[in-house]
Amino acid sequence: MSRKPIIAANWKMNIGPAEGAQFIESFKTILKGKDVACDTVIVPPFTTIPSVLNALGGCGCIAIGAQNVSQYDNGAYTGEISTSMLQELGLKYVVLGHSERRQYFGETDAIINAKIKKAIAAGITPIFCIGETKDERLGGILEPVLEIQLKGGLKDLTPEEVANLVIAYEPVWAIGTGLTATSKEAQEAHAFIRKVVADVFGADTAAKVRIQYGGSVKPENVEELMAQPDIDGALVGGASLKPESFAALVTAA
Ligand code: PEP
Repeated sequence: MSRKPIIAANWKMNIGPAEGAQFIESFKTILKGKDVACDTVIVPPFTTIPSVLNALGGCGCIAIGAQNVSQYDNGAYTGEISTSMLQELGLKYVVLGHSERRQYFGETDAIINAKIKKAIAAGITPIFCIGETKDERLGGILEPVLEIQLKGGLKDLTPEEVANLVIAYEPVWAIGTGLTATSKEAQEAHAFIRKVVADVFGADTAAKVRIQYGGSVKPENVEELMAQPDIDGALVGGASLKPESFAALVTAA
């Protein structure tokens, strides 16, 4: 089963509207005439999204996503953004379950599950993040931790819905630290995730679902990671903030 690679830039709380537009101009220039074999996604802060879309000027070569969405439809939820608001901008992806949302904003598996369902209902593809802390890995509970997050986030979804979303395996200890899981460690975790998906949703779904690796991915390590059979792309923070390095990742994939 061949799965199209997917490389996504998570800008987090970086890059305002003016810088976002400049980024897109430079990124398009760098990639002009180059072969890009992967799906490319950029996930800016909410307020940067309109200027990035404007700079893209209808170029469908890059899909834009959001970093979060509410589990509620509309109404008195100060500070929240709904799926219909993302839909109105034509966004294709939303990152959900990122460890920073779990850690700093108290997002539980149940909340993430509710958000995933809302996104799917709106036709927006979730990039669903899971991953263990250093203590959990050292404590020998990597697999149970991943299994609980996976089953909690994907609860009550159909096999087809799971096949069409993107899972991002992001070991928390590797995010923004410069530490990367070795390609062997990453492959083992990805194979385990695919096995859990197969057990719950069937082998066909497991063969179709794309699983990205995230955690200090950079141009120097992306090829080795992507060469692993169960790694279908990367979710990138730090190395996605400069057009040159994000373009190098996209062309390497
Ligand atoms: C991330 O934010 O999802 C991430 C993987 O960040 P970094 O690439 O900086 O580790």
